[in-house]
Amino acid sequence: MPATAPKPVLLELLRCPEPHHAPLAYDREENALTCSECAKVFRVEDGIPVMLLDGASSSYGVNGE
Ligand SMILES: [Zn+2]
Repeated sequence: MPATAPKPVLLELLRCPEPHHAPLAYDREENALTCSECAKVFRVEDGIPVMLLDGASSSYGVNGE
């Protein structure tokens, strides 16, 4: 069963919570949103993006704690 993708209109409104507020790209295979600026990855649960920085993973592993 495919993951529930966020609505396209929602994706257009979403921006990274970091100060740069860059647009996010939806990765259908990962079911996650990736920031085009800082490469943070935000999970999508039941079509709802989890926009917490604490829950974001970074593809280059900044936070080691
Ligand atoms: Zn960002």
